[in-house]
Amino acid sequence: MMMRCPNCNSKDIGKIGSHQFYCWGCFIELTVNGDKMSVYQVEEDGTLSSLDDLFFEEDMQEAQVHAT
Ligand SMILES: [Zn+2]
Repeated sequence: MMMRCPNCNSKDIGKIGSHQFYCWGCFIELTVNGDKMSVYQVEEDGTLSSLDDLFFEEDMQEAQVHAT
């Protein structure tokens, strides 16, 4: 499975869990849940903040339009 980071396009993605990946290019966490990918930024205190709004909102709306 070849993944690309949606943020920096790096292929340097490390697997950190069964559905979790980590981009070594820009240090964000990627979570794959079926067809859905979520992106999180790891804050300095270790909490995750979702970046989905930045990357996927438009794509998902487009996909829904095509699906109907
Ligand atoms: Zn990246």
